[in-house]
Amino acid sequence: METVVADTTPPVPDRPWHSVRVTEIFSSFDTPPGGLSGTEASERLRRFGYNRIAEPEKMSPLKILFNQLKGFFNIILFIAALIALGVGYLPGRAANLHEVIFIVVIIILNTIISFIEEYKASQSIQSLHRVMKRMARVMRDGQEIVTDADEVVPGDMVILSEGDRIPADGRIIESFGLMVDESVLTGESVSIDKDNLDVPEEAILAERTNMAYSGTYVTRGSSKVLITGTGMATEIGKIAADLYDIRERPTSFQIEIARLGRQVTLAIAVIVAVIAITSYIVEHLSFYDVLINSISLGVAAVPESLPVVMTFALALGTRRMLGKKALVKHLSVVEDLGSVDVICTDKTGTLTENRVSVEKVYADGRISLPEEDVAGAAMPHLLRAAILCNEARTGSVEGGDKAWIGDPTEIGLLMFAGKRMIDPEAERSRYPRIGEIPFSSETRKMTSIHTVDGRPVAYSKGALRVILNDCDRIFNNGDIVTMNQEARDRITTMGDSMAGEALRVLAFACRELPSQEMPEGEIEKGMIFLGFVGMMDPPRKEISGAIRIAREAGIRVIMITGDHKKTAQAIAGRIGLGNNAAEGKDVDRLPIGELAGYMDGVDIVARATPRTKDNITRALQERGHFVAMTGDGVNDATAIKRSDVGVAMGVRGTDVAKESADMILLDDNFATLIDAVEEGRRIFDNIKKFVNYLLSANLAEVFVIMILSFFGFIPLTGTMVLWVNVITDVLPASALAVDPANPGIIRRPPRRVGDPVLNTGVKALIAFSGIKKVIVLLIIFYIGFHMGELKLAQTMVFTSVILFSFVRIMIVREMDRLTLWSNKWLLLAMATGICLQLMVLYIPPVREFFDIVPLNLIHWVILIPIVAVSAFLGIAGARLIMKRLPAI
Ligand code: ADP
Ligand code: MG
Repeated sequence: METVVADTTPPVPDRPWHSVRVTEIFSSFDTPPGGLSGTEASERLRRFGYNRIAEPEKMSPLKILFNQLKGFFNIILFIAALIALGVGYLPGRAANLHEVIFIVVIIILNTIISFIEEYKASQSIQSLHRVMKRMARVMRDGQEIVTDADEVVPGDMVILSEGDRIPADGRIIESFGLMVDESVLTGESVSIDKDNLDVPEEAILAERTNMAYSGTYVTRGSSKVLITGTGMATEIGKIAADLYDIRERPTSFQIEIARLGRQVTLAIAVIVAVIAITSYIVEHLSFYDVLINSISLGVAAVPESLPVVMTFALALGTRRMLGKKALVKHLSVVEDLGSVDVICTDKTGTLTENRVSVEKVYADGRISLPEEDVAGAAMPHLLRAAILCNEARTGSVEGGDKAWIGDPTEIGLLMFAGKRMIDPEAERSRYPRIGEIPFSSETRKMTSIHTVDGRPVAYSKGALRVILNDCDRIFNNGDIVTMNQEARDRITTMGDSMAGEALRVLAFACRELPSQEMPEGEIEKGMIFLGFVGMMDPPRKEISGAIRIAREAGIRVIMITGDHKKTAQAIAGRIGLGNNAAEGKDVDRLPIGELAGYMDGVDIVARATPRTKDNITRALQERGHFVAMTGDGVNDATAIKRSDVGVAMGVRGTDVAKESADMILLDDNFATLIDAVEEGRRIFDNIKKFVNYLLSANLAEVFVIMILSFFGFIPLTGTMVLWVNVITDVLPASALAVDPANPGIIRRPPRRVGDPVLNTGVKALIAFSGIKKVIVLLIIFYIGFHMGELKLAQTMVFTSVILFSFVRIMIVREMDRLTLWSNKWLLLAMATGICLQLMVLYIPPVREFFDIVPLNLIHWVILIPIVAVSAFLGIAGARLIMKRLPAI
């Protein structure tokens, strides 16, 4: 991205913008009525800068590297190296140059590996930032385009509709029923009415009802705004709060692991102190040797890589999810997904394709096909209503082709009009809109008011029963007559039978208004019923499969829709979802306590409102469920926030919904959500695996060293321990973070909330394998000591510690039914480890440095069967434990 230097400031008025007339605003900014030209906009972008509150903070690789280097353990090792170096200056001692170099090499290796992990983790997080771009609709060159909200400039004309986050500060030049939630600026959570009327100069921020402020939300209505300030020049810029930040609080796993790390460190510190004292007293080692040995042992034994690997695993998980079109906003969502046991999902657009087409039309007493040209008195009015009472329009995404923009239901209506050879644009300019009552999922209808032949006419469309309720007249053979009960019943029956064919039914009505200025509550009354359409929105192909997987995974799926019960049931039938339907009004009537039980058998909630969603979330949570809730509208934000994993739609979702959510489905697809759940489970498994592995490997070694120190032996020197740590801990543990999913992962029940990584099963496995390892290492030491001397015993223990670790990894993975070949990184890590160890054993200078002896064939013939038997015992024992105590 080119850098933009702001070298000039936008026009500054002699009075605040809210007290400037609309016409003056236009001239102050030189904005033509059709908006700025593209070239002018880029010129202004260059001059005034990007519309950003603050540059996103970048973790530069150097900074990460430095953070690594100044880590606690590196500093300790550094001190050890300095001591080793300093000892050379003591009288009668030579500098331990080899030791110094070795420690430095260890520091470098540790740093490189954890650097790679942190770097990859931070890159994953940054790619999340990149995807979370805000967009804005602006007028450029007389056309509406969708552009990056960062590129909105002063003088731009921005178009706002319900659910939008306002991209910059501006003066409202046109508005229809606009209401804005300004709580981020004023703290006032009630939405306020906005319009383009003048406001006195002295008005305080909260009273400037003709201004729209960056970072606030449109909760209702629509508007055009002329931008007066962008970026840091906005009100929110002045308080410099960017609310779209990814929230990076530590996840519950990270907290648990950090605590575990502290406990283990403490235990190891005690053991190391015991070893230091005994080796000083019993073995009469020099103070210097004791010091270096203790530091090495401490550094090696503490599983310091755990938190790093953990973050790495979680961050990689977010990246893989992103690859599958699921954007998670913080790391803890990855964990939470593994616990989800109920998913409440929208129907339209999430389960269905959201490509809506009119299949059937009812008008003038008969049902026809959309392309059929039937004559009738009501039909022309119905078509006009379908076009005028409609927010969809053509526009383009910056640089792209012209396309329909808007709600697919409404786009479907415009296409229907197209089939009847009616041009929506011509119709709309002939009958200009003078007012509107926007659609809401509570009322399930919308109305717009137009000037038709000089008189105000209201057109409504909405759910059949809702519209029927507003009508008292109907077309009959060309005449407008009073609608009787029989007509109502007949229409309702026909509508219901269309709904039963999985069609979404939308009815139309109109009415001439006695005057232009009418209270909103009076408009939608005494209307004339025009007819209705049945619209098809086919289910997405992949949904049946996803529903089946969800079921296998022990996850209940509940469809929540504003649509008619019959439509919902028909769609549910096609995707393999249960048929048990409730209605929003029944749900909302029940107290939460009762609703919890009532929801048990329910698969579908029809005619739901956002409040219904919120009630259902509360009821399910009361029942102990861990709920994922999807949503797209402004009012869905409450339920999205309340749910355990709030999911917003990337395409269809409003800014409000997206910003309240924990996760965004970039393709709006339910199947993507199921993929993400699977991914969440995989990561949890992997975290468990390396915790299990790292803890069991390290503790056993310190115990063996401690036990033998009581007898005056040193089975492993400080250098050996540090070496083992690199080969067995650092490399393979990172490789475990990218392990594939267990083949049966999705058939397991969801992880219970609060279930720790280190559950009883894992603890038992760690204890078992740790004790076994201590015993076998003692045996090997004993054999080695009796076959040769201390050096041979040390060499054998040194080598078998590494072999045991690799066997342990295989056992941990075998328990997860993963084959050795399924993770090439792990194979690479182990192969590297074995090669390095062979180097140590058989390249003389290296061997001399470690002060060991080469193993000959006989030694191997003894070692290998011991390792094999131990592996066999390990698998058998782990099986036995896992039968009693489920570990995963
Ligand atoms: P869903 O949960 O399927 O998205 P909605 O809340 O969008 O349901 O719609 C609920 C009902 O409101 C629909 O069944 C339809 O009757 C009506 N409706 C939907 N969209 C519109 C619209 N754009 N204009 C008028 N009425 C609509
Ligand atoms: Mg909808």
